[in-house]
Parts: sequence; structure tokens; C-alpha cells
Amino acid sequence: MATPPLTLDQLNAAPLDEVCAMLAGLYAHAPWIARAALQQRPFRSLAQFKYALCQVVTNAGKDAQLALLRAQPELAGEAMVDKSLTGESTNMQNKAGLTPCTPAEFEKIQQLNSDYKARFGFPFILALGGPRGLGLQRAEIMATFERRLQGHPDPEFQEGLRNLHRVAEIRLNDKFGRSIERGNRVWDWQEALAQYSDPGYAELGQLTVTYLTDAHRACAQRISNNMREAGCDDVHIDAVGNVVGRYKGTGENPKALMTGSHYDTVRNGGKYDGRLGIYVPLACVQRLKRANKRLPFDLEIIAFAEEEGQRYQATFLGSGALTGDFKPDWLDQVDAEGISMRQAMEHAGLCIDDIPKLKRIASDYMGFVEVHIEQGPVLNELNLPLGIVTSINACVRYTGEMLGMASHAGTTPMHCRRDAAAGVAELMLHVESRAAADGDSVGTVGILNVPGGSINVVPGRCQFSLDLRAPTNAQRDALVSDVLAKIEQITKARGLHYHLTETLRASAAPSAPAWQQRWEAAVAALGLPLHRMPSGAGHDAMKLHDLLPQAMLFVRGENAGISHNPLESSSSDDMQLAVQAFEHLLNSQAQELS
Ligand SMILES: [Zn+2]
Repeated sequence: MATPPLTLDQLNAAPLDEVCAMLAGLYAHAPWIARAALQQRPFRSLAQFKYALCQVVTNAGKDAQLALLRAQPELAGEAMVDKSLTGESTNMQNKAGLTPCTPAEFEKIQQLNSDYKARFGFPFILALGGPRGLGLQRAEIMATFERRLQGHPDPEFQEGLRNLHRVAEIRLNDKFGRSIERGNRVWDWQEALAQYSDPGYAELGQLTVTYLTDAHRACAQRISNNMREAGCDDVHIDAVGNVVGRYKGTGENPKALMTGSHYDTVRNGGKYDGRLGIYVPLACVQRLKRANKRLPFDLEIIAFAEEEGQRYQATFLGSGALTGDFKPDWLDQVDAEGISMRQAMEHAGLCIDDIPKLKRIASDYMGFVEVHIEQGPVLNELNLPLGIVTSINACVRYTGEMLGMASHAGTTPMHCRRDAAAGVAELMLHVESRAAADGDSVGTVGILNVPGGSINVVPGRCQFSLDLRAPTNAQRDALVSDVLAKIEQITKARGLHYHLTETLRASAAPSAPAWQQRWEAAVAALGLPLHRMPSGAGHDAMKLHDLLPQAMLFVRGENAGISHNPLESSSSDDMQLAVQAFEHLLNSQAQELS
């Protein structure tokens, strides 16, 4: 007989022992986790309870965490054979198609299990439900297993715990009969969009969608269809290839709210970078339309055609066109095949002459909000599904070179050397500690090259790059001036010369306080703690910042938040929370205006 789903009221009001019994099996062999979390009753939402469970484990300390990991069954391992798995584990392992394996597969899994256990001291733990809760494919499971076996023990320990939390999340959804319909739809929309990929990558199963390729134009068509089907009133592809959908309001307020993100990708990128910010608001439109509801303002969702600067050196082309920052000389740029941007645009049927008309008038809009996958490890580490962006970081980039004297590695005494690479190495360590001292600045030497280097020659030249970012221009400038002073000091002390060329300077785009607060209110309404953070990466909001007040919401990425990589992932549970947060923002804005 099926048990009726649990309710939040039951969770909050039933006697502790009773609730603990209802939550049995949430974390296998560790009923103490739910019991401790329940001390914090009442909970405003299931999301808040899930976070409390994570916090219990985080605060339990390393020994308890290790015991927790060690108590878990091996994947399709001995426990599977002698049927001693708990009911929940068996269900999920069956769902994921791990049983029955062929003898060879079983052998392989056994080998991986024993290698993993020998390396880390606890069994391999993977949430077999996957990011959509439907079960991972066997090939994905094996690939993840092999990849994580190569991981460093510390992050792998944390990854094991996070997978336990994800297992618990899926079990909780089942127990509560929780529908994550909108999160699933957002996930499915992105999955469907990911079928289009540029030639050369599509064959390899990789996702690459660069400006105005066939795959790119197919994406624009599909997004247009998704927008129409979801209920947008006007949908069109503009003169640079942006897909613009408008859900009309009641007309009470003349100003619209703009939202959206990009649908192009980097080469071999992820499915959610950019696209999440198109589909989360679209899920809100779909719900409004189905309920036959209108906001007191128009909602304009824009799928930006180009943000990543992959095919042409024209980053933020899509959002730039809206701020009047489309540079006509871009049209003459050619791609790797010698096709000019002008030719590509003409081939796509875009009206180049209309590009200047895309420039928006600030007074037509209340502001711009963007949802984006975090593309970093912060939220994942904190077990938080959503984060509030305070500012998009200011950035400065340089390319440079230190010059010393190439000399014999055997005959040049240490005190006589003018080692250019050692000079850059010293600079790197300074950049690392100086940026870390700020707490939220970042500094990277991503290029380090000894031209014509040789094992028995002291490096006479060393080329390097510098990428320095901080949440405000002032903080960035202070960081830059310290780093530049250090270069002077290092080269002087080491008898080196240097040259340095600034290649990029971008201002910080601090969030508009009122819009940031609306995101904060939306996250708080979900019962989740607020985590405010700068965005280390550039986004379309950075461009729109020139024209409109803007603020962003970040959604947790899995796999330590990796992005610009096929491992980029996010769960439909987190997407659902993003949809709910967006809905809250729309509703509160509607109330403010009424
Ligand atoms: Zn992006």
C-alpha cells in the first residue's frame, strides 16, 4: 500500500520520533542527521530543511563525516549481491540500470570499487538519480567513477558528502510527493536545445554553438518556438540574431522588465551556461499564461545571440547591440574559415542596416535581471542552491615579458644569474597572496612561457599574462598598482627588464541595490540563507549595466561548479528554486507597482 506523501505541516508539528520514523532511510545508516536537523523546526520550506540536513553534516566534524561515508554501500557491490541494501538504495540502483550488469561490467565495477576504496578509504558514492532525478545512464556512471577515482582526496571527500545530500534530496522529494515540474521543464528545454552543435563537435557528442552557424540558427528557431508555446505574445529574431519574446502586461505600467542571457556557447561547453537565464523566466511566463494572469508590466525575455566571443572577436555582441555598442568594424572581421561577420549575417537573413535601431531607451525599462549558473565552486561548497550577485567584477588584463640573460645552467653561479622565469615565478606568488589578501579579488598568471627554453639554460626570457579582477574599480586599481610595483621591485632586484601591455580593462558592474534586494527577498522567501557574492565572470548583465539598473541571481553548478566544460551540470531541483525565486521577484514587483 502506498503511503500518502508527507507534508511540511507534519514535518513541523508531528512528534519528533514520529517524524524521524517517517524520514527513515534518508541518509542510509545515519538517522542522527535528520534527528539533529529537526531540532531546528519549524521549517518554511522543504529547501530550508534540506539545507539544515547539510548543515548538520557540515558541523558534525571530519570523524562523523568519514563514518557516514564509510557506512554507505558500494555501488552495485557485494551488498547488491547479498541483497543487504536498504530499500531506497536498491530502488535507485535499479532505476539507474545498474542491475543486471554483464559479468564484464560487474567485474569492472568491482575493480573500480576496490581501487576507489583503497585510494580514499570510503566507498564511491554517486547520486544515481542524477541531476534530473530520472537515473543516470550506465555509461555516465562509469565515466564519473573513473574520473573521480583520479580526484584529490580532499575534494573527493566533499564530493562524496554532496552526493549523499543529493541522494537525500531525491528521497525527500519522493517522500513529500514533491513535484518539480517547472524545474524539470527548464532542464528538458535545455537538454533539447543541446542537440544542436557545430560540425566537428556534434560528431564527438560535444556542445559548441558559435555565432550564426547552422546549429546557432537552429537554436534561435527552437527558442522562438519555446517562447511562443510558453505564451509570449510577440516573438521575433532581431537584426543581430537575438531572440526576443515579450509577455505583455496589463499596460498599467509603461516600463518593461528585461531579462535573459545568451544561447551561444564556448567550444565543448556546457548546456546551462547562458541558457538557464532564458528558460527560467520562460517557465514563469508559461505558468502566468496557463493561469491567464498578466503582470502590470511587460516582461521582455531576450536570448542573446552572442556573448562568448568564439567565432569572432566581438564578445557581448548580442547585449552590446542593445546598448548601442555594436561596432560597425566588427562586420569586417573574418572567422577561421575566412567568412566575414557581414557575410555570416547576410547568409542568416539578418538586416544589418537595422542594427542601430536595436539600441534600447533606458526610460522604457525598469531594469535588467539575469539568472545564470554560477560557473564556480562557491555555492556547491556551501550546499546552497542560489546566490545573490553583488557586483560583476572589474577586470584588467596584461600580457608581458621579463628579460634577463640566458646563460649556462652548469657554469653560472646562483648569485650571477638573471633568470627571467624565476622573476615571473616570484611575481606569480605575489599575485596569489596579494589577491587572496583582499578576500574577494582574484589574480591569475595563466600564460607562462619560456621561448626556446632548454633544460640546461637559465631562462633569459619569460612571457606571461596577468588577469586581475575585483568587485569594485577601486579595489581592482589598488590590486593592479601593488602588482605593478612588485614587478618593478622584482625586476630591479634581479637585474631584469620587462615590458607590459594592457589588453583589456572592464569596469565593475555593481548590482543595483533595489534589484539586488528583490533577489534577496525572493531567496529568503524560499527559506534559504542569503549568500551574497561577486561574479568573477563577465555576463550580459555587465553590458546592460551601461543602460539599466541590473542584478543577477546565481544557481549552483554541480561537479564543483565546473563550467565551459561538458561536465557543467545543475539539478532540476535547483532550477525549480530559481524559477520560484524569479516568480517571487515578478510578483513582488507587481505588488510594488499596484
Ligand atoms: Zn554565460
